[in-house]
Amino acid sequence: MAAKIQDEIAKIFLFSQPNYKKGIMYRTHTCGELRIENLGTEVTLSGWVQRIRDLGAMTFVDLRDRYGITQLVVDENTDKSVAENLEKLGREFVIQAIGTVRERSSKNKNIATGDVEIALKSIQILSPSAVPPFTIQDDTDGGDDLRMKYRYLDLRRTVVRKNLELRAKMAHAIRNYLNADGFIETETPVLIKSTPEGARDFVVPSRMNPGEFYALPQSPQMFKQLLMVAGFDKYYQIVKCFRDEDLRADRQPEFTQIDCEMSFVEQKDVLETFEGLTRYMFKEVLDIDVDEFPWMPYSEAMEKYGSDKPDTRFEMLINDISEIVKGKDFVVFDSAEYIGAICAKGCAEYTRKQLDGLTNWVKRPQIGAKGLVYVKCNADGSYKSSVDKFYSQEELKLWAETTGAEAGDLILVMSGDKNHMLDALGELRLEMANQLGLRDKKVFKPLWVVDFPLLEWDEESQRFFAMHHPFTSPKPEDIPMLDTAPGKVRANAYDLVINGVEIGGGSVRIFDSELQSKMFDLLGFTKKQAEEQFGFLMNAFKYGAPPHAGIAFGFDRLVSLFASLDTIRDVIAFPKNNSGRDVMNDAPAPIAKEQLDELNLILNTKEK
Ligand code: ASP
Repeated sequence: MAAKIQDEIAKIFLFSQPNYKKGIMYRTHTCGELRIENLGTEVTLSGWVQRIRDLGAMTFVDLRDRYGITQLVVDENTDKSVAENLEKLGREFVIQAIGTVRERSSKNKNIATGDVEIALKSIQILSPSAVPPFTIQDDTDGGDDLRMKYRYLDLRRTVVRKNLELRAKMAHAIRNYLNADGFIETETPVLIKSTPEGARDFVVPSRMNPGEFYALPQSPQMFKQLLMVAGFDKYYQIVKCFRDEDLRADRQPEFTQIDCEMSFVEQKDVLETFEGLTRYMFKEVLDIDVDEFPWMPYSEAMEKYGSDKPDTRFEMLINDISEIVKGKDFVVFDSAEYIGAICAKGCAEYTRKQLDGLTNWVKRPQIGAKGLVYVKCNADGSYKSSVDKFYSQEELKLWAETTGAEAGDLILVMSGDKNHMLDALGELRLEMANQLGLRDKKVFKPLWVVDFPLLEWDEESQRFFAMHHPFTSPKPEDIPMLDTAPGKVRANAYDLVINGVEIGGGSVRIFDSELQSKMFDLLGFTKKQAEEQFGFLMNAFKYGAPPHAGIAFGFDRLVSLFASLDTIRDVIAFPKNNSGRDVMNDAPAPIAKEQLDELNLILNTKEK
């Protein structure tokens, strides 16, 4: 019986696929493969028409696929029928070409196949193309929106595809490294109960449970901790995460994490493992040896770089000069909580216009400084400043000594509320480095930022938030301060920062249900709320939870850093735009009334 059914299936298959037996040989080589060694060989190539050049006596067609471009040629020796067929061709037609490899008379050194061309014997159109909305080449005339709308055409461009190839190569390297180190790749669910990571959840209504919703994971945080309770010991996953927050160049509503968790480890074990992974990636993918990663306490990062993700490719550190500038009758400084300065090397020659430009730059609402004081350290050893009225040459010399400024340098000073000014000086530091060309994309300076505060005070809601997430362990020596000065408690939390980009972060976890309850208390959860949201994790901890810690890297960010790009959109095959839309398939979109009914949803369509 079974044999009979198989015969029937075979017949249908043969019938619907007339070429089944003969087989179609679409290509013998790719469009990036042929070299001088192949001269005289008859080959079959398939690909897209990149360009047609009709020079009268000869016509050239550039045939493209993922692997490269090969030149096809028709001349007076070619069969007439080929030339006729050629007339029907346009850009982006998919064709099959048969011909013989011959040496080019004028070689193209810029492409790997540039020594040869194919003298055509026949061509066949496999699939015609409408005129593409933009030119499919590295320097395209297509704007961002158009390219996103036709992303499948954009992805045909080598410069774009290369980024995705790099991404695949990196994912492969990550898996190699972590598999070899005994990590178990484990998938966790996408329809879950919300895990707080500080953003809004995307939610999915449940048809089978009317009025109830799943959340899409902001990260698999609780699941990976449960896998540790389950004894998995080492877990990883290259996983999609979803956060409904305002978008920027390095944020997408759905993004990918390299997510990991380890048992019976301390902070240094996690950092060692993931420093190992990162260095392996640099070597494997970019063939770059990077130095051991320094560890920098969060407090130092903030005081010296004005950021918890310091760009350490250049110095230009922030100096607190409050002590030495106060008390000289300059009211602006005397009334300020904090006065900070950076020294821009070799910028003493900045013109009035450049300095005004910088002043306007710091006054923009994004930076929000009131003004900018400057001191030029002239070549002759004198100083020229915007506050000469208040400060003597001797005093300005002290500023220079404190900030490490020498003849030829420019000191830039801002004053005001301490946290705000550190932030502003941090931004100014980056801007100056941009102007001075100190942020070379081919130089990589990774570091670990450690000892983050456990909690962050939110003025608006008058409550603490977890700086990392609620499962992060305080430093054991700081635990007593949880009752007396919670804002001062440091966490066993860490971030990997490379070139001013936060590549990833993680923490040692709380594995004791009592300490975890206390943490929920501090974060303002009632017992009932904590039970509702995290009861299953607390419960799991009652059955023997190993000490554990973990980390997650933003995979998209890591790839865009490796590719020297400014936005993660370029390393995602089908990204969303800044309003979270997929402009290609036009999502999000309304759903039909029947679908809403089935989900028990009524839309509030009142005008906003
Ligand atoms: N789940 C955390 C995050 O997404 C990472 C971690 O703590 O492992 O940032």
